[in-house]
Amino acid sequence: MRSFEHYIDGTFSAGTQQFESVNPATGETWALMPRAGAEDVDRTVKAAHRALSDPAWRNLTATQRGKLLYKLADLVAANAQTLAELETADTGKIIRETSAQIAYVAEYYRYYAGLADKLQGAHLPIDKPDMEVWLRREPIGVVAAIVPWNSQLFLAAVKLGPALAAGCSVVLKASEDGPAPLLAFAKLVQEAGFPPGVVNIITGFGPDCGSVLTSHPLVSRIAFTGGPETARHVMRNAANNLAHVTLELGGKSPVVVFGDADLDSTANAVVAGIFAATGQSCVAGSRLIVERRVKDQMVQKLAAKAKAIRIGDPQDRATEVGPLATARQRDHIEAVVAQSLSAGAKLVCGGARPEGFAKGFYYSPTILDCDGVNSPSAEKELFGPVLSVLSFDGEQEAIRIANDTPFGLASGVFTSNLSRAHRMVRDIHAGIVWVNTYRAVSPIVPFGGFGMSGTGREGGLESVLDYTRTKSVWLRTSDDPIPDPFVMR
Ligand code: NDP
Repeated sequence: MRSFEHYIDGTFSAGTQQFESVNPATGETWALMPRAGAEDVDRTVKAAHRALSDPAWRNLTATQRGKLLYKLADLVAANAQTLAELETADTGKIIRETSAQIAYVAEYYRYYAGLADKLQGAHLPIDKPDMEVWLRREPIGVVAAIVPWNSQLFLAAVKLGPALAAGCSVVLKASEDGPAPLLAFAKLVQEAGFPPGVVNIITGFGPDCGSVLTSHPLVSRIAFTGGPETARHVMRNAANNLAHVTLELGGKSPVVVFGDADLDSTANAVVAGIFAATGQSCVAGSRLIVERRVKDQMVQKLAAKAKAIRIGDPQDRATEVGPLATARQRDHIEAVVAQSLSAGAKLVCGGARPEGFAKGFYYSPTILDCDGVNSPSAEKELFGPVLSVLSFDGEQEAIRIANDTPFGLASGVFTSNLSRAHRMVRDIHAGIVWVNTYRAVSPIVPFGGFGMSGTGREGGLESVLDYTRTKSVWLRTSDDPIPDPFVMR
């Protein structure tokens, strides 16, 4: 059995406690992971705090920091296949997706590497003649970065990249479900030459690791990706220390399809939107809202595609849908689908574990017709391969249904009418609107949600500024002595 180690203060260690990690494709234990407890977290945060003022990091120029990030990007690109195989083994995400995504993760590090020496302060046109005032832009401090199991390397890159470009130090907590790729990535951090303590990568359970980390008094900035319930804990913990928090949470993203759209092309986008990553994607287009006159036609096309999907071993390049990451996740999906059917939703396809996969946490691509029904599947985030179909007549009804959710992460609009597309973009309540496409991402584009989907943005220029703070510096230019404040003139 393989075993993995924490990376703390430049050193690898197995820690005092370990836990077993299960391969979701077989349901069998395949590796031992280190389990960080409160003392380990405290030691790690202190190491990160020390690293901030260590000349080996603090005295690097921004350009030198950028060079370290470029080196890390090259190492990620060179090791993408190995990291992808580890992520697939530990989370069940199919190898086609993990290898493509991790190769692209290198581009995220390159983007932030290029930004490192473009973070500027400012000189202010102060309204006092004998003063010079400028702003220094400084790293915000120790960053606690927390990621869930899906797309761990990607979700880590959008936190580590800007934090390191800005000169912060980081304690990154990998999810207890599938931490292997991030723990292995730590070797690349070391090889890239980041000084000890600047990047620390640990894993452990929410209550005794994540919670201790987010409430630690030496943490100044928390970058969290996960579910809304955990996010509330994180925000409460952050209040202890008044740490700056960004939250990237879940969604119940609407995909609105008008009858004038190219339905064949749209069907491919809808399938990718819900069944890629076995539906375990924060931006999963899990609510299809389709114009009533083309609903049956659209559902037929989607059902044909869903039934033809190749379910299989996630390490096999031919596989299109793999297992869910955990048995807990599969059980949750089964329960919500059962509740939805009881509520009146009609099963179009799927709705069960696929035949021939007795081992592993598989669930068939599923479509539920939820029109006119209060179906839990159309309200709750399932984080699985389940599409709920609703229908509308007219733009106003489409908008009302699309916005009828406390979430607001992503959305899709499919239409050939340009003016309508603009109206929909304006009225949809979500941080991302894809028009006649779905799931496109880039390091250049901000990513984040409205409402229960979180606060703050990752990616893009602004995200780097979020890891800095400004210091206002006042300098008196007059050589005259400062007048006695108690002598009247
Ligand atoms: P959770 O919120 O359960 O867990 C997320 C992370 O938080 C894990 O590392 C978890 O550790 C940790 N954690 C758990 N409890 C605490 C705590 N009390 N304090 C601090 N950290 C804690 O989310 P899931 O793992 O279930 O991930 C799925 C969720 O993530 C979905 O809602 C999904 O939409 C969202 N997500 C959002 C994305 C976005 O960018 N908007 C992208 C991807 C996913 P442990 O695993 O050890 O419990």
